[in-house]
Amino acid sequence: MIRVDDLHKHFGGFRAVDGASLAIETGSITGLIGPNGAGKSTLFNVIAGVLAPTSGRVTMDGEDITGLPPHELFHKGLLRTFQLAHEFASMSVRDNLMMVPGGQIGEGLMGAWLGRGRVAAQEAELRARANDVLDFLTIRHLTHEKAGNLSGGQKKLLELGRTMMVDAKVVFLDEVGAGVNRTLLGTIGEAITRLNRERGYTFCVIEHDMDFIGRLCDPVVVMAEGRVLAEGPADAIMQNEAVIEAYLGR
Ligand code: ADP
Ligand code: MG
Repeated sequence: MIRVDDLHKHFGGFRAVDGASLAIETGSITGLIGPNGAGKSTLFNVIAGVLAPTSGRVTMDGEDITGLPPHELFHKGLLRTFQLAHEFASMSVRDNLMMVPGGQIGEGLMGAWLGRGRVAAQEAELRARANDVLDFLTIRHLTHEKAGNLSGGQKKLLELGRTMMVDAKVVFLDEVGAGVNRTLLGTIGEAITRLNRERGYTFCVIEHDMDFIGRLCDPVVVMAEGRVLAEGPADAIMQNEAVIEAYLGR
């Protein structure tokens, strides 16, 4: 589905991504691991259109999507989750979910387009969809909670929930488990698995918790120094000499 070909992203003379090539197959939950500074987040940001690559190519279902801006990728179903924006902290959890598609058009323009009655109908539909998402993620009880009051793990679930408000095809998750307790990490893992099986989402997941990666991901791609070092099933990857060396240092 997503192919990355000899991708480079240099910051001045520094090669954060230095000739990375990989494929993310349709229907997979692909794990991306590697030591700190390996270039994982930079690679995500290039794929998701947040950063322009220095060189190289990204394709989606054979179509060149290199350097497309995030909103165009969004319409193609390619999403990268972001930490909740500061200004959304005072809004309720459900309103945060409902902001996603509406925000793509803008309330004013949408109103002018559709007329008030249509907007009300659209809002009811959005609310119903948000409720479904909250049920799916087992956080319906947080409907009216301010997003800013959520725990780290609950915020991650809400970020995942935002991808469910649109018809995503492939979702990029950067460090889903960072600052998340075990129980909630399990819930996030289950949500990812269900989205993958029941809704056909493809995922690419960066995470340091190898136990989480091992249970969730196949294949696992290992990056080191801006390149792909190894790729394969989790158990084989964990026994790979080059991978062990990259983690332990030389
Ligand atoms: P990872 O996510 O694997 O930990 P990153 O992609 O965040 O790694 O970073 C890879 C390297 O690129 C790091 O050495 C980091 O300091 C550097 N880097 C990342 N973003 C920038 C930037 N905007 N300007 C300069 N260097 C950067
Ligand atoms: Mg990172």
